[in-house]
Amino acid sequence: MAEHESLEFGKADFVLLDNVSLEEFMANLKLRFEKGRIYTYIGEVVVSVNPYRAMNIYGRDTIEQYKGRELYERPPHLFAIADAAYKAMKRRNKDTCIVISGESGAGKTEASKYIMQYIAAITNPSQRAEVERVKNMLLKSNCVLEAFGNAKTNRNDNSSRFGKYMDINFDFKGDPIGGHINNYLLEKSRVIFQQEGERSFHSFYQIVFSILQSSINDSADFKAVTDAMKVIGFTTEEIQTVYKILATILHLGNLKFGSDGDVTLIENSKLVSVLGDLLSTKDENVEKALLYRTVATGRDVIDKQHTHQEASYGRDALAKAIYERLFCWIVGRINDIIEVKNYDARVHGKNTVIGVLDIYGFEIFQNNSFEQFCINYCNEKLQQLFIQLVLKQEQEEYEREGIPWKHIDYFNNQIIVDLVEQQHKGIFAVLDEACMNVGKVTDEMFLQALNGKLAKHAHYTSRKLSPTDKNLEFDRDFRIRHYAGNVAYSVVGFIDKNKDTLFQDFKRLLYNSSNPVLKAMWPEGKLRITEVTKRPLTAATLFKNSMISLVENLASKEPYYVRCIKPNDVKSPLLFEHERCKHQVEYLGLLENVRVRRAGFANRQLYPRFLQRYKMISEFTWPNHDLPSDKEAVKRLLQGCGFEHDVAYGKTKVFIRTPRTIFSLEEQRAEMV
Ligand code: ADP
Ligand code: MG
Repeated sequence: MAEHESLEFGKADFVLLDNVSLEEFMANLKLRFEKGRIYTYIGEVVVSVNPYRAMNIYGRDTIEQYKGRELYERPPHLFAIADAAYKAMKRRNKDTCIVISGESGAGKTEASKYIMQYIAAITNPSQRAEVERVKNMLLKSNCVLEAFGNAKTNRNDNSSRFGKYMDINFDFKGDPIGGHINNYLLEKSRVIFQQEGERSFHSFYQIVFSILQSSINDSADFKAVTDAMKVIGFTTEEIQTVYKILATILHLGNLKFGSDGDVTLIENSKLVSVLGDLLSTKDENVEKALLYRTVATGRDVIDKQHTHQEASYGRDALAKAIYERLFCWIVGRINDIIEVKNYDARVHGKNTVIGVLDIYGFEIFQNNSFEQFCINYCNEKLQQLFIQLVLKQEQEEYEREGIPWKHIDYFNNQIIVDLVEQQHKGIFAVLDEACMNVGKVTDEMFLQALNGKLAKHAHYTSRKLSPTDKNLEFDRDFRIRHYAGNVAYSVVGFIDKNKDTLFQDFKRLLYNSSNPVLKAMWPEGKLRITEVTKRPLTAATLFKNSMISLVENLASKEPYYVRCIKPNDVKSPLLFEHERCKHQVEYLGLLENVRVRRAGFANRQLYPRFLQRYKMISEFTWPNHDLPSDKEAVKRLLQGCGFEHDVAYGKTKVFIRTPRTIFSLEEQRAEMV
């Protein structure tokens, strides 16, 4: 609790509010935002409000002020949380993670970059060349991933269209020695379709504008991205292939099909040879893959001509698939290069990690489809993790330790998580089942199945179930009451997007390219049609599995939280839209967070550990105590210091209410050693 900060800026920690009410919470949040204090604590959680203007609070001098300090010594800042995670990792050998959440445009990606910069700035004091190289690559990887994975949406000009979890590995000295990136479901449909006012991925504009030299920003970014790829270690051939793939996708976008009687044709056939060149393959192979597919009928293999519609579907699927594959390949290449090499734990001690999670935030668009459904489910999962770790476990620990405790209620969104992911009954399960049916299954049939299974669910409805509901405009919509608000999803495209079929002919085409980089991206093109497994995992199942393992991974580490709030919808630095902010504070569970924190204890330590650190403060415990138990010894020590009123004694741990007490213990300890 940074009490040295003047009250004219409001309370630096919501725990210090006179009354824990929504009104006071909001008043404090607003006051601080208006005074340019965009960060406020709830204990160790940082609440951040997007300032929508450049803030002079991330420079070298600020970094120096936070380095090695305790959280409550300085005004709230991301750097303090980054330092806390770093200290826990270094001092206690703990794997830690920083989970950044909030809706689209709230400031998650910017926060993750400042955190990375901070960690890079405070490590490697001896300037070891190898560590500097690793740090540089970790920072540069952001630039590349943003170019290929971010796009302008109506919510955010630089919106992350993929989820990113990055581990930074540290050696025993606490210096970064490598890293690993996990990426989650890229919104690849953006390659072929954008809602009004939106753009495709930045990468496309960068390459186009670099040719046209018209947009200063995009062409400057093109150079920055190319340079970053070089720094990370992409070869010239690899970089060229990346741009050829982007060009391929742009040309595919211009490819039109026509028909002559029953025969499907390519209208602008000149494009075929352009594509042949870009993909380093024969023109006739390109043409054939676009117009035919090989099918196995019993023992025979035949070429079947596409209908007009199938050909268009195939072209779009190809464009999406090669972009997604390119993106995953880029992540994979970065990982190859940054992963820790030659680390011997026996020599160097445990290699610990700090993970930083920056994922797409909750979003509601004009038209919400499968992608928004996945993104919003992901946010439900993260909210559930927050509830588990911050609200639930905390309270359970007090009960377990026998500390008198009055339970604090909160909305548990597990019911919505189940609605989506539960086996057999959940929306993903119903979708997978629909996709498994042989014969033509339509999106409407999927909607019917949902209505049948979920009619009674409190968080599910649809036009069929609530015909008079004015917020459900279309028959094709179903609506979920998410923790963060109601979203109507259009079922159109759910079946195709979940099946995510790419004809084997395209895979074979790419695998047979004489460009080795491209060929290596498509190993499954090697399979003959008779060897292809008919039923790969669906997009929904893959996403669900990746979310479950992400949450498991986060839960296994010591978590730190940044909760981002978006102050308005017009990207204004001046506007604090009260209702909008209040809504976020409510659904993020921040008030409950304050209540648990305030009724609770800032710090807890096992008795032996506590003694180990502070026994030199008291004559009763130094160098050893002769009391019947460590618990008794800790009591004696704290009585001697006059901190009795600020602590509680659990079965195995001592609980300390305010950080000030810890601070003071630390000071006394420092005087002794
Ligand atoms: P999210 O990742 O949550 O969708 P971003 O981090 O991309 O949101 O932030 C959206 C925009 O808001 C940024 O492009 C930037 O203009 C502005 N912004 C966010 N955080 C900050 C900050 N700390 N300082 C200045 N501007 C910010
Ligand atoms: Mg983002």
